[in-house]
Amino acid sequence: MCPVCDEVAETIMHILVLCKVVKACWQVFKAGINVDGALEFTDWLAGILEGQSKNNKANILTLCWSIWRSRNDLVWYNKRWTVLRIVAKAWEYLSQWNVAQSRGYSVPLIPTVEGDRATTWVKPQHNIIKITVDASIFQNLGMSGASIVARKHNSHLILAKSICIPDVMNPTLAEVMVVKEAFSCAMEMGWSSVTIESDCMVVIQLIRSSTPM
Ligand SMILES: [Zn+2]
Repeated sequence: MCPVCDEVAETIMHILVLCKVVKACWQVFKAGINVDGALEFTDWLAGILEGQSKNNKANILTLCWSIWRSRNDLVWYNKRWTVLRIVAKAWEYLSQWNVAQSRGYSVPLIPTVEGDRATTWVKPQHNIIKITVDASIFQNLGMSGASIVARKHNSHLILAKSICIPDVMNPTLAEVMVVKEAFSCAMEMGWSSVTIESDCMVVIQLIRSSTPM
């Protein structure tokens, strides 16, 4: 049975195209993609990729991957992604990939410091405040949103803030802006020892490197 809707048997075509949540993702991601009329996923994919630009093909394949990731997060970790999150994660991944591919950047996307790629929140050391940030793109609203959460070594929440970033549709740029906002918060609050935590490896590696942003 499909783990997302729990209504229909789970086939590749259903989980990547026909499930009601997934149909909504295709609508948000790119208007005009026909989600009906094919029985086999490979036939459907070949049909919609035909005549598309290289960029559009990358967009379509990345959304398939993001939908599959959300399905796995639900099955293995019981975490349910919203439609906007599935689409935002696809944009974010594409953006990171493009940054990594573009000339002028030599940012390694492999973990270099202990704690990189951690999947669970870990308490900071004594007297260090950990600020966790996350940004999302809202394609339909033409803006980004971001959240900032700060906690002490004893896990106590000491700050929670959400911000709107108008007109920014690039996930990497949105993440950079929320990291900058987190540093501003730390300065305003007079915190001298902070750790910033982000799920955007490109931004973290850019901050660590000497590459101008
Ligand atoms: Zn379903």
